[in-house]
Amino acid sequence: MASGHFDPLHQLVKTRYADETGHHCDICLSKLAGDVGHSCRACNIDLHDACSGYFKETISFFAHPWHTLKLSRIPSAAVGRWWLCDLCMEELPPGSFVYRCAVCNFDVHPLCTMLPQTIHIPQHPEHDFRMVPSSGNCSMCEKSLPVWHYVCPCSARLHIGCASGVGSAGQDDDDAKGDEVAHATSSSSSAVTVSKHRRRKVIAKMLLKTSIRIAINAATGGTASPVLDVLAAVFSS
Ligand SMILES: [Zn+2]
Ligand SMILES: [Zn+2]
Ligand SMILES: [Zn+2]
Ligand SMILES: [Zn+2]
Ligand SMILES: [Zn+2]
Ligand SMILES: [Zn+2]
Repeated sequence: MASGHFDPLHQLVKTRYADETGHHCDICLSKLAGDVGHSCRACNIDLHDACSGYFKETISFFAHPWHTLKLSRIPSAAVGRWWLCDLCMEELPPGSFVYRCAVCNFDVHPLCTMLPQTIHIPQHPEHDFRMVPSSGNCSMCEKSLPVWHYVCPCSARLHIGCASGVGSAGQDDDDAKGDEVAHATSSSSSAVTVSKHRRRKVIAKMLLKTSIRIAINAATGGTASPVLDVLAAVFSS
């Protein structure tokens, strides 16, 4: 999506973001602070240079092999509706970008499409884990798992967050329901803000693990490394 976006009359404009800007990238959800990025004021879009360069309008993705996924936008006035990523089960914020199959109603965070299909984790060195659709409870935190999770040949299974060592809070059904209630009533907005902030970290920290970075760079021929550099700059502070 280098220059155009959904409205053919608009072009994304190169923008320098100040250090204290409140802007967040609508693709990776991380802050734009001191970065050069791209914006469209009419559409209220702000993007890192790396994110607008890396994420294509359509992709094929191992977790939805049946159809091409299209880069789409969650409506900004998503009142009363709550979009969740089918991979990590975390929120897709209003106005943010998502890879979507409209036929199947499959939605996934752009960052989640960077997760490797196969990972190796030091806590379970005997086997590699593969992201597959399955059911069961997490071998690490024992909470219920979303349909897509990491499974090894001996049937150990993990949340994305547990595989990354970041933990699983917010990834089981009870927590998701709790957030929905908090959102609907707007009575505990600070709690929701805290958990959103944490959620964004789960995937980013997973992607930034050395072994995962190596796997992503191998799978993408290095084209994803500017996005990983953006995340590293945000989350290493
Ligand atoms: Zn970004
Ligand atoms: Zn626009
Ligand atoms: Zn996700
Ligand atoms: Zn589909
Ligand atoms: Zn877990
Ligand atoms: Zn195993």
